[in-house]
Amino acid sequence: MKFPQNSAPLIHLYSRNGVQVHMKREDLVHPEISGNKFWKLFYTIQNYQNEKKEKPLIITFGGAFSNHIAAVAKVGQLENIPTLGIIRGDELEKNWQKNPTLKLAHENGMNFRFVNRETYRNKESLSEKLLAEFPQSCIIPEGGTNDFAVKGIQHMLNFETEQFDYLCSAVGTGGTLAGISKFCKENQQVLGFSVVKDLEQKKLISQLSGKRNFELVDATFGGYGKINEDLIYFINSFKKEFKIQLDAIYTGKMMQKLQMMIDENYFPQNTKIVAFHTGGLQGNFGVNLQLTKKKKVLLNLEH
Ligand SMILES: *Cc1c(COP(=O)(O)O)cnc(C)c1O
Repeated sequence: MKFPQNSAPLIHLYSRNGVQVHMKREDLVHPEISGNKFWKLFYTIQNYQNEKKEKPLIITFGGAFSNHIAAVAKVGQLENIPTLGIIRGDELEKNWQKNPTLKLAHENGMNFRFVNRETYRNKESLSEKLLAEFPQSCIIPEGGTNDFAVKGIQHMLNFETEQFDYLCSAVGTGGTLAGISKFCKENQQVLGFSVVKDLEQKKLISQLSGKRNFELVDATFGGYGKINEDLIYFINSFKKEFKIQLDAIYTGKMMQKLQMMIDENYFPQNTKIVAFHTGGLQGNFGVNLQLTKKKKVLLNLEH
């Protein structure tokens, strides 16, 4: 895997209540391997490629709309490595073609195995079985989080990000935040916006990062993947104002929560904040599909 051709521009968004907010556009690093997933996969894939297996195969795990599944499928296609996705939910077996994430992943060459939620939860025993079946394979955990992923995140930081007091990112499995925490400067604070309720998150992030320079705030807004009308309205207005598309699972919730915190004087005057746009835009098609079924207001996905 090679370094991306595109860089991630850092732009000023707004000043509000004495606080400056910038955004670093990791979503622009690659059109299909979105944002943080590019960096999280980078060293895992490079390392595996260096092993030069005769029958390489990348196996990974994810839910029906997973950005990680989409990213791994595309990496496999570009790097010429077959991919196998272990997908949560055996009910999808019959109608996965209707799911935009899985349809595109399949077009990019990924094969699937659909497993029920119980089997999926026991990923460790599942991984053992898969490794016995495919001894030369590279098994990447859900969300891609491992030590290589943390190492890759260092490339989201550069001389430009050093001037900020706060570095903000949405948190799922925590690998991205761990990388930011590990590689940022000593005087910087790291703020993670948790979109999943997970009591182990904080512990895992400190283990991966080896530092305590981060805090987590609750940005679940009702739970992982739960989407209310305020969020849709926020994302659509944000797009109108800044010409930037956010996703409804991660970056939309982060930016909405960040704005609320600024208004509640969480930050001292003159604080400079940078929020990472970690991508995830492919997931918006699945979100609109579900909103359409519920006859709700949709995300505006026009260019
Ligand atoms: C996966 C993802 C995250 C969360 O990354 P973790 O390293 O799992 O915490 C954040 N934003 C987007 C858009 C993602 O796809």
